Amino acid sequence: MNRDWHEAHPIPPKATRRQRVEWHLAHSQACGCRPPPPSLLPEIRDLERQRLLAVEGGAIR
Ligand SMILES: [Zn+2]
Repeated sequence: MNRDWHEAHPIPPKATRRQRVEWHLAHSQACGCRPPPPSLLPEIRDLERQRLLAVEGGAIR
């Protein structure tokens, strides 16, 4: 478990669904001590794909 990451990224107590999706995406890349809830998986994958496309599309130059 990546304790430093967890200390730097607490889950907000009243996180919106979008915030939870973003948290789990970052968590899966930084730590992965537990899998994301299956109900959020499709949205996490969508967000990940959007970020990849943004980079490939030349948003960062
Ligand atoms: Zn973790």
